[in-house]
Amino acid sequence: MAGAEDGPGQQPELDEDEAAYCRRWGAQHAGARELAALYSPGKRFQEWCCVILCFSLIAHNLVHLLLLARWEHTPLVMLGVIAGALIADFLSGLVHWGADTWGSVELPIVGKAFIRPFREHHIDPTAITRHDFIETNGDNCLVTLLPLLNMAYKFRTQSPEALEHLYPWECFVFCLTIFGTFTNQIHKWSHTYFGLPRWVTLLQDWHVILPRKHHRIHHVSPHETYFCITTGWLNYPLEKIGFWRRLEDLIQGLTGEKPRADDMKWAQKIK
Ligand SMILES: [Zn+2]
Ligand SMILES: [Zn+2]
Repeated sequence: MAGAEDGPGQQPELDEDEAAYCRRWGAQHAGARELAALYSPGKRFQEWCCVILCFSLIAHNLVHLLLLARWEHTPLVMLGVIAGALIADFLSGLVHWGADTWGSVELPIVGKAFIRPFREHHIDPTAITRHDFIETNGDNCLVTLLPLLNMAYKFRTQSPEALEHLYPWECFVFCLTIFGTFTNQIHKWSHTYFGLPRWVTLLQDWHVILPRKHHRIHHVSPHETYFCITTGWLNYPLEKIGFWRRLEDLIQGLTGEKPRADDMKWAQKIK
């Protein structure tokens, strides 16, 4: 294996059509090459701005949270941290499912900027392991900017009494935004098989963050389950209740749109 999973040879129990489809996956796939070429300097600039702003706000808010910490908050803070991780996992699944299942790279603005990476990831799953820190995390930093800004604003404007009262809630929001910000980094680690720091593989083994084997379930064509990519805790229960399938049936019933039509179109490109 060349440093990452998802090579065509590792897909379990494929029929002939699926095997043929998988053989075309990778950096040389025509769709993957076209999608990679759509990564523009403007998009890169947006990612840099979001990463710098986001990490400045994380540092600012973390300092304020540490200064306000009290022992008596511990039980509620722990509850907030677990709830934050759970909700971040659900939201990662919802955004991932939405971008995988609906929309098109041809959509104005959002298509090339935000849907393109999801299409690329299915036909060249190892591309993410070659993306640098900015490309990996830029979009998630954009999503968490607003809650981080709102928190920073509260720390600057609220009285110490009000902040004391708000403390467990702010810890919940902070944990949610931290997991949200690092979701794609965690996702990248789940595709990386060599050179990961020991602490990352331990977190994966303890299932604190998305384990590598667990995420492989999503990468079996046609990519219709296990969308949660932060901790992955909700994948099994959501699959058990048919959550994504029911949601797709509902949306297809309302709009007439077929799930994953654009994803399949890119996957089937041969030149
Ligand atoms: Zn996907
Ligand atoms: Zn993946």
